[in-house]
Amino acid sequence: MIEPGDHRLRQREYLLQISRALTAQLDLVSVLSLVIGYAVEMTAGTSGLIALYDEDSSDELRIRASARLSREDWPAFARLLKLPLGDLPRRGEAILRDVADDTGLTLRQMIALPLTLRDTPVGVIYVFRAALNVAFSADDRQVLQDFADQAAIAVSNARLYQSVLREKQRLDATIEQSADGVMIIDSRWRITTFNKAMEQLTGWPREEAIGRPCAEILGIQNPQGANICLVDCPLQRLPFAANPVVEGRLLTRDGRELYVQSRYAPQRGAKGQFLGAIANVRDITAQKQDEELQSTFISVISHELKTPVSIIKGFAGTLQRDDATFSAEQYREGLGVIEEEADRLARQIQDLLDVSRLTAGGIRLDMADFPLHALAADVVRALAPSAGERFEFELRFPDDMPPVHGDYERARQVLVNLVSNAIKYSPEGGKIRVGGWPEGDFAVCYVADQGVGIAPEEHEAIFRRFYRIDNRLRRETQGSGLGLYLTRAIVEAHGGRIWVESQVGKGARFVFTLPMGRRQLTD
Ligand code: ADP
Repeated sequence: MIEPGDHRLRQREYLLQISRALTAQLDLVSVLSLVIGYAVEMTAGTSGLIALYDEDSSDELRIRASARLSREDWPAFARLLKLPLGDLPRRGEAILRDVADDTGLTLRQMIALPLTLRDTPVGVIYVFRAALNVAFSADDRQVLQDFADQAAIAVSNARLYQSVLREKQRLDATIEQSADGVMIIDSRWRITTFNKAMEQLTGWPREEAIGRPCAEILGIQNPQGANICLVDCPLQRLPFAANPVVEGRLLTRDGRELYVQSRYAPQRGAKGQFLGAIANVRDITAQKQDEELQSTFISVISHELKTPVSIIKGFAGTLQRDDATFSAEQYREGLGVIEEEADRLARQIQDLLDVSRLTAGGIRLDMADFPLHALAADVVRALAPSAGERFEFELRFPDDMPPVHGDYERARQVLVNLVSNAIKYSPEGGKIRVGGWPEGDFAVCYVADQGVGIAPEEHEAIFRRFYRIDNRLRRETQGSGLGLYLTRAIVEAHGGRIWVESQVGKGARFVFTLPMGRRQLTD
Protein backbone atom coordinates (compact mmCIF):
# COMPACT_ATOMS: atom_id res chain seq x y z
CA MET A 1 0.00 0.00 0.00
CA ILE A 2 1.41 3.41 -0.99
CA GLU A 3 1.40 6.02 1.74
CA PRO A 4 -0.21 9.39 0.83
CA GLY A 5 3.14 11.19 1.38
CA ASP A 6 4.98 8.76 -0.92
CA HIS A 7 2.24 9.19 -3.44
CA ARG A 8 2.66 12.96 -3.60
CA LEU A 9 6.43 12.58 -3.83
CA ARG A 10 6.10 10.13 -6.67
CA GLN A 11 3.66 12.40 -8.46
CA ARG A 12 6.07 15.32 -8.12
CA GLU A 13 8.87 13.13 -9.46
CA TYR A 14 6.76 12.09 -12.48
CA LEU A 15 5.66 15.65 -13.23
CA LEU A 16 9.33 16.68 -13.09
CA GLN A 17 10.25 13.94 -15.54
CA ILE A 18 7.50 15.09 -17.89
CA SER A 19 8.77 18.68 -17.67
CA ARG A 20 12.25 17.45 -18.56
CA ALA A 21 10.87 15.53 -21.51
CA LEU A 22 9.06 18.69 -22.60
CA THR A 23 12.23 20.79 -22.55
CA ALA A 24 14.25 18.02 -24.19
CA GLN A 25 11.95 18.59 -27.20
CA LEU A 26 10.87 14.97 -27.50
CA ASP A 27 8.21 14.63 -30.12
CA LEU A 28 4.60 15.15 -29.09
CA VAL A 29 3.54 11.47 -29.10
CA SER A 30 6.48 10.47 -26.87
CA VAL A 31 5.61 13.15 -24.31
CA LEU A 32 1.89 12.24 -24.39
CA SER A 33 2.77 8.55 -23.91
CA LEU A 34 4.85 9.49 -20.88
CA VAL A 35 1.99 11.60 -19.47
CA ILE A 36 -0.70 8.94 -19.88
CA GLY A 37 1.62 6.21 -18.53
CA TYR A 38 2.27 8.14 -15.30
CA ALA A 39 -1.36 9.30 -15.05
CA VAL A 40 -2.64 5.72 -15.20
CA GLU A 41 -0.11 4.63 -12.62
CA MET A 42 -0.84 7.52 -10.22
CA THR A 43 -4.60 7.07 -10.37
CA ALA A 44 -4.34 3.28 -10.05
CA GLY A 45 -6.03 2.91 -13.42
CA THR A 46 -6.07 -0.14 -15.63
CA SER A 47 -5.40 1.76 -18.86
CA GLY A 48 -5.77 5.22 -20.39
CA LEU A 49 -5.88 7.29 -23.57
CA ILE A 50 -5.08 10.77 -24.75
CA ALA A 51 -7.03 11.97 -27.78
CA LEU A 52 -6.55 15.33 -29.51
CA TYR A 53 -8.70 17.43 -31.79
CA ASP A 54 -7.21 17.93 -35.23
CA GLU A 55 -5.84 21.44 -35.50
CA ASP A 56 -8.04 22.32 -38.47
CA SER A 57 -11.27 20.41 -37.62
CA SER A 58 -11.87 21.01 -33.95
CA ASP A 59 -14.82 18.62 -33.42
CA GLU A 60 -13.13 15.30 -34.15
CA LEU A 61 -10.95 13.58 -31.57
CA ARG A 62 -8.10 11.29 -32.60
CA ILE A 63 -6.23 9.00 -30.20
CA ARG A 64 -2.57 10.01 -30.05
CA ALA A 65 -1.22 8.00 -27.09
CA SER A 66 -2.33 5.24 -24.77
CA ALA A 67 -1.14 3.35 -21.71
CA ARG A 68 -1.55 -0.39 -21.29
CA LEU A 69 -3.65 -0.65 -24.41
CA SER A 70 -2.48 -1.97 -27.73
CA ARG A 71 -2.95 0.05 -30.89
CA GLU A 72 -5.30 -2.63 -32.24
CA ASP A 73 -7.71 -1.79 -29.39
CA TRP A 74 -7.92 1.91 -30.32
CA PRO A 75 -10.78 1.54 -32.89
CA ALA A 76 -13.04 0.08 -30.18
CA PHE A 77 -13.03 3.52 -28.48
CA ALA A 78 -14.32 5.35 -31.57
CA ARG A 79 -17.84 5.86 -30.18
CA LEU A 80 -16.46 7.05 -26.87
CA LEU A 81 -14.52 9.77 -28.65
CA LYS A 82 -17.70 11.01 -30.32
CA LEU A 83 -19.54 11.70 -27.04
CA PRO A 84 -19.68 15.23 -25.68
CA LEU A 85 -17.70 15.48 -22.43
CA GLY A 86 -20.81 16.26 -20.34
CA ASP A 87 -22.42 12.94 -21.37
CA LEU A 88 -19.42 10.84 -20.53
CA PRO A 89 -19.97 9.54 -16.99
CA ARG A 90 -23.39 8.06 -17.77
CA ARG A 91 -23.16 7.01 -21.41
CA GLY A 92 -19.48 6.13 -21.12
CA GLU A 93 -20.46 3.11 -19.06
CA ALA A 94 -22.45 1.62 -21.93
CA ILE A 95 -19.60 2.22 -24.32
CA LEU A 96 -17.11 0.69 -21.94
CA ARG A 97 -19.25 -2.43 -22.06
CA ASP A 98 -19.01 -2.41 -25.87
CA VAL A 99 -15.27 -1.99 -25.62
CA ALA A 100 -15.12 -4.91 -23.20
CA ASP A 101 -17.19 -7.03 -25.62
CA ASP A 102 -15.10 -6.08 -28.66
CA THR A 103 -11.69 -6.42 -27.09
CA GLY A 104 -12.04 -8.64 -24.07
CA LEU A 105 -10.74 -5.75 -21.96
CA THR A 106 -12.62 -5.46 -18.71
CA LEU A 107 -13.18 -1.77 -18.24
CA ARG A 108 -15.91 -0.63 -15.89
CA GLN A 109 -15.12 2.85 -14.67
CA MET A 110 -13.71 5.92 -16.34
CA ILE A 111 -12.75 9.53 -15.68
CA ALA A 112 -12.19 11.97 -18.50
CA LEU A 113 -10.85 15.51 -18.30
CA PRO A 114 -10.55 18.05 -21.09
CA LEU A 115 -7.13 19.30 -22.11
CA THR A 116 -7.40 23.04 -22.57
CA LEU A 117 -5.03 25.60 -24.00
CA ARG A 118 -5.94 29.17 -23.02
CA ASP A 119 -9.54 28.01 -22.43
CA THR A 120 -9.80 26.27 -25.81
CA PRO A 121 -10.28 22.50 -25.69
CA VAL A 122 -7.48 20.72 -27.53
CA GLY A 123 -8.21 17.14 -26.45
CA VAL A 124 -9.32 14.76 -23.71
CA ILE A 125 -7.43 12.52 -21.28
CA TYR A 126 -9.21 9.28 -20.23
CA VAL A 127 -8.31 6.82 -17.47
CA PHE A 128 -10.18 3.50 -17.09
CA ARG A 129 -10.47 1.03 -14.25
CA ALA A 130 -11.41 -2.64 -14.39
CA ALA A 131 -12.55 -2.89 -10.77
CA LEU A 132 -16.09 -1.88 -9.91
CA ASN A 133 -15.64 -1.52 -6.21
CA VAL A 134 -13.05 1.29 -6.05
CA ALA A 135 -14.61 4.51 -7.45
CA PHE A 136 -12.50 7.44 -8.73
CA SER A 137 -12.14 10.02 -5.98
CA ALA A 138 -11.85 13.81 -6.03
CA ASP A 139 -8.12 13.28 -5.35
CA ASP A 140 -7.79 11.12 -8.42
CA ARG A 141 -9.44 13.88 -10.41
CA GLN A 142 -6.97 16.42 -9.04
CA VAL A 143 -4.01 14.16 -9.88
CA LEU A 144 -5.31 13.63 -13.37
CA GLN A 145 -5.83 17.39 -13.77
CA ASP A 146 -2.11 17.94 -13.09
CA PHE A 147 -1.20 15.47 -15.80
CA ALA A 148 -3.81 16.95 -18.14
CA ASP A 149 -2.13 20.36 -17.71
CA GLN A 150 1.23 18.85 -18.68
CA ALA A 151 -0.29 17.20 -21.72
CA ALA A 152 -1.80 20.55 -22.75
CA ILE A 153 1.64 22.19 -22.47
CA ALA A 154 3.10 19.44 -24.67
CA VAL A 155 0.41 20.12 -27.29
CA SER A 156 1.05 23.84 -27.08
CA ASN A 157 4.81 23.32 -27.57
CA ALA A 158 4.30 21.00 -30.49
CA ARG A 159 1.93 23.44 -32.21
CA LEU A 160 4.28 26.34 -31.66
CA TYR A 161 7.13 24.28 -33.02
CA GLN A 162 5.03 23.29 -36.04
CA SER A 163 4.08 26.87 -36.77
CA VAL A 164 7.68 28.04 -36.42
CA LEU A 165 8.70 25.24 -38.75
CA ARG A 166 6.01 26.21 -41.28
CA GLU A 167 7.04 29.85 -41.03
CA LYS A 168 10.64 28.86 -41.61
CA GLN A 169 9.72 26.75 -44.62
CA ARG A 170 7.72 29.66 -46.03
CA LEU A 171 10.65 32.02 -45.43
CA ASP A 172 13.10 29.53 -46.98
CA ALA A 173 10.87 29.27 -50.05
CA THR A 174 10.60 33.07 -50.31
CA ILE A 175 14.37 33.44 -50.02
CA GLU A 176 14.95 30.67 -52.53
CA GLN A 177 12.55 32.15 -55.09
CA SER A 178 13.79 35.72 -54.68
CA ALA A 179 15.09 37.24 -57.91
CA ASP A 180 17.79 38.99 -55.88
CA GLY A 181 20.70 37.12 -54.41
CA VAL A 182 20.04 36.48 -50.71
CA MET A 183 22.69 35.32 -48.29
CA ILE A 184 22.49 34.96 -44.50
CA ILE A 185 25.64 35.10 -42.40
CA ASP A 186 26.16 34.18 -38.76
CA SER A 187 28.03 36.03 -36.02
CA ARG A 188 31.33 34.62 -37.32
CA TRP A 189 30.71 35.98 -40.84
CA ARG A 190 30.12 32.51 -42.18
CA ILE A 191 27.43 31.85 -44.75
CA THR A 192 24.45 29.84 -43.50
CA THR A 193 21.94 30.45 -46.30
CA PHE A 194 22.68 30.97 -49.99
CA ASN A 195 19.82 31.12 -52.49
CA LYS A 196 19.56 30.12 -56.14
CA ALA A 197 19.96 33.69 -57.45
CA MET A 198 23.12 33.96 -55.37
CA GLU A 199 24.50 30.80 -57.02
CA GLN A 200 23.85 32.29 -60.46
CA LEU A 201 25.28 35.65 -59.48
CA THR A 202 28.53 34.43 -57.93
CA GLY A 203 29.04 31.17 -59.82
CA TRP A 204 29.47 29.38 -56.46
CA PRO A 205 27.36 26.25 -55.82
CA ARG A 206 25.48 26.42 -52.51
CA GLU A 207 27.16 23.31 -51.06
CA GLU A 208 30.55 24.98 -51.38
CA ALA A 209 29.50 28.47 -50.33
CA ILE A 210 27.76 27.49 -47.08
CA GLY A 211 30.17 27.55 -44.14
CA ARG A 212 32.74 29.78 -45.87
CA PRO A 213 33.48 33.41 -44.84
CA CYS A 214 31.26 35.80 -46.79
CA ALA A 215 34.21 37.97 -47.89
CA GLU A 216 35.61 34.99 -49.79
CA ILE A 217 32.43 34.34 -51.77
CA LEU A 218 31.25 37.92 -52.26
CA GLY A 219 34.56 39.77 -52.58
CA ILE A 220 33.21 43.08 -53.87
CA GLN A 221 36.07 45.24 -55.12
CA ASN A 222 36.61 48.96 -54.80
CA PRO A 223 37.91 50.95 -57.82
CA GLN A 224 41.49 50.18 -56.71
CA GLY A 225 40.78 46.46 -56.93
CA ALA A 226 40.87 45.78 -53.16
CA ASN A 227 38.27 43.47 -51.60
CA ILE A 228 35.98 45.88 -49.71
CA CYS A 229 34.64 43.01 -47.62
CA LEU A 230 38.15 42.43 -46.25
CA VAL A 231 39.52 45.95 -45.97
CA ASP A 232 36.41 47.95 -45.12
CA CYS A 233 33.55 45.66 -44.13
CA PRO A 234 30.48 47.89 -43.70
CA LEU A 235 29.12 45.66 -40.94
CA GLN A 236 32.16 46.42 -38.78
CA ARG A 237 32.47 50.11 -39.53
CA LEU A 238 31.76 52.35 -36.52
CA PRO A 239 29.32 53.87 -35.80
CA PHE A 240 27.15 51.00 -37.02
CA ALA A 241 24.90 51.92 -39.90
CA ALA A 242 21.31 50.67 -39.81
CA ASN A 243 21.33 49.36 -43.37
CA PRO A 244 24.81 49.45 -44.87
CA VAL A 245 25.28 49.18 -48.64
CA VAL A 246 28.33 48.14 -50.65
CA GLU A 247 28.71 48.62 -54.38
CA GLY A 248 31.50 47.52 -56.64
CA ARG A 249 32.98 45.08 -59.09
CA LEU A 250 32.52 41.36 -58.56
CA LEU A 251 34.66 38.76 -60.30
CA THR A 252 32.53 35.64 -60.35
CA ARG A 253 33.94 32.20 -59.84
CA ASP A 254 33.20 31.31 -63.46
CA GLY A 255 35.16 34.31 -64.73
CA ARG A 256 32.45 36.92 -65.35
CA GLU A 257 32.84 40.52 -64.28
CA LEU A 258 29.75 42.13 -62.78
CA TYR A 259 28.89 45.29 -60.95
CA VAL A 260 26.83 44.48 -57.86
CA GLN A 261 25.13 46.21 -54.99
CA SER A 262 24.81 44.44 -51.64
CA ARG A 263 22.45 45.73 -48.95
CA TYR A 264 22.78 44.37 -45.42
CA ALA A 265 20.24 44.03 -42.64
CA PRO A 266 22.43 43.38 -39.59
CA GLN A 267 21.18 41.89 -36.33
CA ARG A 268 22.83 43.11 -33.14
CA GLY A 269 22.59 42.01 -29.53
CA ALA A 270 21.75 44.23 -26.54
CA LYS A 271 25.38 45.38 -26.25
CA GLY A 272 25.66 46.08 -29.96
CA GLN A 273 27.57 42.86 -30.69
CA PHE A 274 27.15 41.41 -34.16
CA LEU A 275 24.76 38.44 -34.29
CA GLY A 276 24.51 37.99 -38.05
CA ALA A 277 23.09 39.66 -41.13
CA ILE A 278 20.98 39.15 -44.20
CA ALA A 279 22.56 40.37 -47.42
CA ASN A 280 20.50 41.26 -50.46
CA VAL A 281 22.68 41.26 -53.56
CA ARG A 282 21.65 42.71 -56.91
CA ASP A 283 23.38 42.69 -60.29
CA ILE A 284 23.42 46.34 -61.40
CA THR A 285 25.84 45.89 -64.30
CA ALA A 286 23.28 46.99 -66.91
CA GLN A 287 22.28 50.03 -64.85
CA LYS A 288 25.94 50.97 -64.39
CA GLN A 289 26.61 50.58 -68.11
CA ASP A 290 23.58 52.74 -68.89
CA GLU A 291 24.89 55.45 -66.56
CA GLU A 292 28.33 55.28 -68.19
CA LEU A 293 26.75 55.34 -71.62
CA GLN A 294 24.69 58.34 -70.67
CA SER A 295 27.74 60.29 -69.58
CA THR A 296 29.73 59.17 -72.66
CA PHE A 297 26.77 60.16 -74.81
CA ILE A 298 26.76 63.65 -73.35
CA SER A 299 30.51 64.10 -73.69
CA VAL A 300 30.49 62.73 -77.25
CA ILE A 301 27.63 64.99 -78.26
CA SER A 302 29.21 68.01 -76.69
CA HIS A 303 32.58 67.33 -78.30
CA GLU A 304 31.64 65.89 -81.69
CA LEU A 305 28.77 68.24 -82.43
CA LYS A 306 30.37 71.34 -81.03
CA THR A 307 33.55 71.01 -83.10
CA PRO A 308 31.97 71.37 -86.57
CA VAL A 309 29.57 74.04 -85.28
CA SER A 310 32.44 76.18 -84.01
CA ILE A 311 34.38 75.70 -87.27
CA ILE A 312 31.30 76.72 -89.30
CA LYS A 313 30.70 79.69 -87.05
CA GLY A 314 34.36 80.73 -87.22
CA PHE A 315 34.51 80.63 -91.03
CA ALA A 316 31.11 82.30 -91.49
CA GLY A 317 32.12 85.08 -89.07
CA THR A 318 35.48 85.62 -90.80
CA LEU A 319 33.95 85.76 -94.29
CA GLN A 320 31.48 88.38 -93.09
CA ARG A 321 34.05 90.78 -91.67
CA ASP A 322 33.88 94.29 -93.14
CA ASP A 323 37.48 95.11 -92.32
CA ALA A 324 38.95 92.37 -94.49
CA THR A 325 38.74 91.64 -98.18
CA PHE A 326 38.82 88.09 -99.52
CA SER A 327 39.53 86.87 -103.02
CA ALA A 328 36.95 84.76 -104.83
CA GLU A 329 39.25 81.78 -104.30
CA GLN A 330 39.35 82.41 -100.51
CA TYR A 331 35.54 82.71 -100.43
CA ARG A 332 35.20 79.42 -102.27
CA GLU A 333 37.62 77.69 -99.91
CA GLY A 334 35.87 79.08 -96.83
CA LEU A 335 32.45 78.06 -98.09
CA GLY A 336 33.89 74.65 -99.00
CA VAL A 337 34.99 74.14 -95.38
CA ILE A 338 31.57 75.27 -94.14
CA GLU A 339 29.89 72.75 -96.43
CA GLU A 340 32.25 69.92 -95.38
CA GLU A 341 31.69 70.61 -91.69
CA ALA A 342 27.92 70.88 -92.19
CA ASP A 343 28.04 67.46 -93.90
CA ARG A 344 30.02 66.04 -90.99
CA LEU A 345 27.48 67.51 -88.59
CA ALA A 346 24.63 65.96 -90.57
CA ARG A 347 26.38 62.55 -90.53
CA GLN A 348 26.94 62.74 -86.78
CA ILE A 349 23.31 63.63 -86.17
CA GLN A 350 22.25 60.80 -88.49
CA ASP A 351 24.46 58.37 -86.53
CA LEU A 352 22.98 59.49 -83.22
CA LEU A 353 19.47 59.12 -84.60
CA ASP A 354 20.31 55.65 -85.91
CA VAL A 355 21.65 54.66 -82.52
CA SER A 356 18.52 55.77 -80.71
CA ARG A 357 16.38 54.04 -83.34
CA LEU A 358 18.41 50.88 -82.82
CA THR A 359 17.93 51.03 -79.07
CA ALA A 360 14.21 51.50 -79.66
CA GLY A 361 13.78 48.41 -81.78
CA GLY A 362 16.03 47.79 -84.76
CA ILE A 363 16.67 48.94 -88.28
CA ARG A 364 14.12 48.84 -91.10
CA LEU A 365 15.61 47.54 -94.31
CA ASP A 366 14.49 48.26 -97.84
CA MET A 367 15.61 45.09 -99.60
CA ALA A 368 16.60 44.78 -103.26
CA ASP A 369 19.22 43.03 -105.40
CA PHE A 370 22.20 45.19 -106.38
CA PRO A 371 25.83 44.67 -107.49
CA LEU A 372 28.19 45.02 -104.51
CA HIS A 373 31.27 45.66 -106.67
CA ALA A 374 29.60 48.66 -108.30
CA LEU A 375 28.65 50.05 -104.89
CA ALA A 376 32.23 49.55 -103.64
CA ALA A 377 33.60 51.36 -106.72
CA ASP A 378 31.17 54.22 -106.10
CA VAL A 379 32.22 54.57 -102.44
CA VAL A 380 35.92 54.55 -103.34
CA ARG A 381 35.28 57.19 -106.05
CA ALA A 382 33.54 59.41 -103.50
CA LEU A 383 36.10 59.09 -100.71
CA ALA A 384 39.41 58.82 -102.56
CA PRO A 385 39.74 62.57 -103.42
CA SER A 386 39.56 63.63 -99.75
CA ALA A 387 42.09 60.91 -98.75
CA GLY A 388 44.87 62.60 -100.66
CA GLU A 389 47.98 61.56 -102.54
CA ARG A 390 49.36 59.19 -99.91
CA PHE A 391 46.68 56.60 -100.59
CA GLU A 392 46.29 54.05 -103.33
CA PHE A 393 42.93 52.29 -103.79
CA GLU A 394 42.40 48.86 -105.26
CA LEU A 395 39.14 47.03 -106.05
CA ARG A 396 39.24 43.22 -106.17
CA PHE A 397 36.00 41.50 -107.16
CA PRO A 398 35.60 38.59 -109.59
CA ASP A 399 34.13 39.63 -112.93
CA ASP A 400 31.13 37.37 -112.49
CA MET A 401 30.36 38.54 -108.92
CA PRO A 402 26.60 37.92 -108.47
CA PRO A 403 24.42 40.65 -106.95
CA VAL A 404 23.72 40.81 -103.21
CA HIS A 405 20.30 41.12 -101.61
CA GLY A 406 20.08 44.01 -99.15
CA ASP A 407 19.29 47.64 -98.39
CA TYR A 408 21.39 49.69 -100.86
CA GLU A 409 21.69 52.83 -98.71
CA ARG A 410 22.54 50.85 -95.55
CA ALA A 411 25.14 48.78 -97.41
CA ARG A 412 26.61 52.04 -98.69
CA GLN A 413 26.78 53.29 -95.07
CA VAL A 414 28.73 50.14 -94.11
CA LEU A 415 31.29 50.60 -96.87
CA VAL A 416 31.58 54.36 -96.25
CA ASN A 417 32.26 53.72 -92.54
CA LEU A 418 34.87 51.03 -93.22
CA VAL A 419 36.68 52.94 -95.99
CA SER A 420 36.62 56.21 -93.96
CA ASN A 421 38.11 54.36 -90.99
CA ALA A 422 40.77 52.79 -93.22
CA ILE A 423 41.77 56.31 -94.29
CA LYS A 424 41.44 57.83 -90.81
CA TYR A 425 43.51 55.16 -89.05
CA SER A 426 46.32 55.05 -91.65
CA PRO A 427 48.24 58.25 -90.84
CA GLU A 428 51.07 57.24 -93.19
CA GLY A 429 48.71 56.49 -96.06
CA GLY A 430 49.24 53.25 -98.01
CA LYS A 431 47.16 50.88 -100.06
CA ILE A 432 43.46 50.40 -99.30
CA ARG A 433 41.93 47.30 -100.86
CA VAL A 434 38.21 46.68 -101.17
CA GLY A 435 37.20 43.28 -102.48
CA GLY A 436 34.92 40.28 -102.19
CA TRP A 437 33.82 36.90 -103.46
CA PRO A 438 30.70 34.72 -103.34
CA GLU A 439 30.64 31.97 -100.72
CA GLY A 440 27.57 29.75 -100.44
CA ASP A 441 24.48 31.87 -99.78
CA PHE A 442 26.57 34.91 -98.85
CA ALA A 443 28.84 37.45 -100.43
CA VAL A 444 32.01 38.03 -98.42
CA CYS A 445 33.38 41.57 -98.62
CA TYR A 446 36.46 43.15 -97.05
CA VAL A 447 38.15 46.51 -96.60
CA ALA A 448 41.89 46.22 -95.86
CA ASP A 449 44.36 48.95 -94.98
CA GLN A 450 48.05 49.27 -94.01
CA GLY A 451 47.40 51.54 -91.04
CA VAL A 452 48.02 51.38 -87.28
CA GLY A 453 46.17 48.07 -86.80
CA ILE A 454 44.20 46.82 -83.81
CA ALA A 455 45.38 44.62 -80.93
CA PRO A 456 43.50 41.27 -80.78
CA GLU A 457 42.07 42.07 -77.31
CA GLU A 458 40.27 45.08 -78.86
CA HIS A 459 38.71 43.13 -81.74
CA GLU A 460 35.36 42.74 -79.96
CA ALA A 461 35.30 46.05 -78.08
CA ILE A 462 35.63 48.29 -81.15
CA PHE A 463 32.11 47.26 -82.20
CA ARG A 464 30.62 48.58 -78.93
CA ARG A 465 28.74 51.84 -78.69
CA PHE A 466 31.03 54.87 -78.19
CA TYR A 467 34.12 52.68 -77.98
CA ARG A 468 37.34 54.24 -79.25
CA ILE A 469 40.75 52.67 -78.73
CA ASP A 470 42.82 54.65 -76.28
CA ASN A 471 45.87 55.48 -78.45
CA ARG A 472 47.55 58.51 -79.98
CA LEU A 473 45.13 58.54 -82.91
CA ARG A 474 42.17 58.82 -80.57
CA ARG A 475 43.24 62.36 -79.75
CA GLU A 476 44.34 63.21 -83.27
CA THR A 477 41.25 62.02 -85.13
CA GLN A 478 37.64 62.97 -84.81
CA GLY A 479 35.15 60.24 -84.05
CA SER A 480 32.23 59.28 -81.84
CA GLY A 481 32.87 55.54 -81.62
CA LEU A 482 29.49 54.88 -83.22
CA GLY A 483 30.59 53.96 -86.75
CA LEU A 484 31.46 50.31 -86.19
CA TYR A 485 28.56 49.83 -83.76
CA LEU A 486 26.11 50.93 -86.46
CA THR A 487 28.02 49.00 -89.14
CA ARG A 488 27.68 45.79 -87.20
CA ALA A 489 23.98 46.45 -86.47
CA ILE A 490 23.32 46.92 -90.21
CA VAL A 491 25.24 43.79 -91.23
CA GLU A 492 23.50 41.70 -88.56
CA ALA A 493 20.09 43.07 -89.54
CA HIS A 494 20.82 41.52 -92.98
CA GLY A 495 21.61 38.19 -91.30
CA GLY A 496 25.33 38.67 -91.98
CA ARG A 497 28.45 38.78 -89.76
CA ILE A 498 31.32 41.22 -89.38
CA TRP A 499 34.74 40.81 -87.80
CA VAL A 500 38.24 42.22 -87.98
CA GLU A 501 41.58 40.55 -88.66
CA SER A 502 44.44 42.70 -87.43
CA GLN A 503 47.48 43.22 -85.23
CA VAL A 504 49.04 46.42 -83.98
CA GLY A 505 51.21 48.02 -86.68
CA LYS A 506 50.17 45.48 -89.32
CA GLY A 507 47.10 47.18 -90.82
CA ALA A 508 43.53 45.98 -90.45
CA ARG A 509 41.17 43.91 -92.57
CA PHE A 510 37.44 44.25 -91.82
CA VAL A 511 35.38 41.41 -93.28
CA PHE A 512 31.58 41.22 -93.50
CA THR A 513 28.99 39.05 -95.19
CA LEU A 514 25.70 39.96 -96.87
CA PRO A 515 23.11 37.58 -98.31
CA MET A 516 23.46 36.80 -101.97
CA GLY A 517 20.78 37.99 -104.41
CA ARG A 518 18.41 35.60 -106.13
CA ARG A 519 20.56 34.20 -108.92
CA GLN A 520 19.38 34.60 -112.51
CA LEU A 521 18.29 31.24 -113.82
CA THR A 522 20.18 30.47 -117.03
CA ASP A 523 18.93 27.92 -119.53
P1 ADP B 1 35.26 56.27 -84.58
O1 ADP B 1 36.05 56.07 -85.83
O2 ADP B 1 34.25 57.33 -84.67
O3 ADP B 1 36.13 56.37 -83.36
P2 ADP B 1 34.30 53.55 -85.00
O4 ADP B 1 33.21 52.85 -84.31
O5 ADP B 1 34.23 53.65 -86.47
O6 ADP B 1 34.39 54.96 -84.31
O7 ADP B 1 35.63 52.82 -84.61
C1 ADP B 1 35.91 52.51 -83.27
C2 ADP B 1 37.40 52.47 -83.01
O8 ADP B 1 37.98 51.35 -83.69
C3 ADP B 1 38.14 53.66 -83.54
O9 ADP B 1 38.15 54.72 -82.61
C4 ADP B 1 39.53 53.11 -83.78
O10 ADP B 1 40.25 53.14 -82.54
C5 ADP B 1 39.28 51.66 -84.14
N1 ADP B 1 39.33 51.44 -85.59
C6 ADP B 1 38.30 51.41 -86.46
N2 ADP B 1 38.69 51.14 -87.71
C7 ADP B 1 40.06 51.02 -87.66
C8 ADP B 1 41.07 50.73 -88.63
N3 ADP B 1 40.78 50.53 -89.92
N4 ADP B 1 42.36 50.64 -88.18
C9 ADP B 1 42.66 50.82 -86.90
N5 ADP B 1 41.74 51.10 -85.93
C10 ADP B 1 40.45 51.19 -86.30
